[in-house]
Amino acid sequence: MKCLLIIADGAGDRPCKELKGRTPFQAAKTPNLDSLASRGITGLMDVISPGLPPGSDTAHLALFGYDPKIYYSGRGPFEALGAGVKLKEGDIALRGNIATVKNGIIIDRRAGRRDSKPFEKVLKNIKITSVRGVKPIVRATVEHRFVLILRGKELSPNVTDTDPHKTGKSILASKPLKDSDAARRTALAINEFTNKAMSVLKGHPKNKGSRLKANAVLLRGAGSFLPMPSMRKRYGLRATGIAKGALYSGVARAVGMKTVIPTGATGGINENYASFARTALKTLKKNDFVFVHIKGPDIAGHDGNPLEKVKIIEEIDSMIKEFMRLRNTLIVFTCDHSTPCSRMDHSGDPVPLVMAGPGVRPDDVVSFDEVSVSRGGLNRINGLSLMPIIIDLMDKSKKYGA
Ligand code: ZN
Ligand code: ZN
Repeated sequence: MKCLLIIADGAGDRPCKELKGRTPFQAAKTPNLDSLASRGITGLMDVISPGLPPGSDTAHLALFGYDPKIYYSGRGPFEALGAGVKLKEGDIALRGNIATVKNGIIIDRRAGRRDSKPFEKVLKNIKITSVRGVKPIVRATVEHRFVLILRGKELSPNVTDTDPHKTGKSILASKPLKDSDAARRTALAINEFTNKAMSVLKGHPKNKGSRLKANAVLLRGAGSFLPMPSMRKRYGLRATGIAKGALYSGVARAVGMKTVIPTGATGGINENYASFARTALKTLKKNDFVFVHIKGPDIAGHDGNPLEKVKIIEEIDSMIKEFMRLRNTLIVFTCDHSTPCSRMDHSGDPVPLVMAGPGVRPDDVVSFDEVSVSRGGLNRINGLSLMPIIIDLMDKSKKYGA
């Protein structure tokens, strides 16, 4: 028995007036998801807890069965793992942008989305002297983004961002969020890195002649890396994650999955779902557990575009068709959170969930949407319960008691 877990990022929604009071799942034509719902068991899921809007990172950790309260201190380490950086226990990782500053004011948070790669070397060579024994590691990622890792003893993720997340403001000084030496040392190192970055970027030959110069860095999402028991160790599963975005492959790697990017994947609104389907079918042959991450619905939600979301859900439904002939496979389809178009951000609404495969007790629900599945046999579960249910349906659970 194998498991295919498909997560449609942010696909859950609320009634949309553009859809005559229906949610995108209700409005979309989804014959394949509906067929899974009629064959399977359905329900609603509070991914973290009722009413709490999850981030994608904490949500995925919970769905894989890892309590974010234990394993999550910030997004940085997951982005770094996704970028292929090998982390050590206690490393502090931050997400960074190269940015454009004029007279001390940020005029472009992304330096015109220019590539950070040409600036990686000068940033890498920065030495931290204000705190002892701290080594910065820099890795350029996609476009203007990079990750900064602070490696050393006595560091803490409890520091504020230098990124004000807005243009027209100055770069902020990182501050300790806790009254501890570790937090103070970390904030000091971040501020020294930020100041030295400005001096090494100023007059960088790659900036010559460009209007939006990469002359500053913005840092955010500090988190400390805590190694986790792998899915192999915990559940006895050979697991692989299929995702385009670094954050999602980063969370998958953190729990010991291998990762694959389908050819032609965009991670955007226009996705190559055929390639995702092919990659998933191929990956299932050599794995017990395959996780597929689809980003599109979340983007449509953040854009406040219900019609786009409907279209994407229908495209995902066509991808699901390719999985309908799988035998001895538990198919699980859900979302990491809702991203209602009316809110243009994540919400704490529970997400719809369906599980279909051998051994599953079907309920009476025959269509897949937030309202129909609320009458399903799973009722309302929380995110951390998903993996135990999957493991039990795969007949891999251990008895509690005699
Ligand atoms: Zn998400
Ligand atoms: Zn989102």
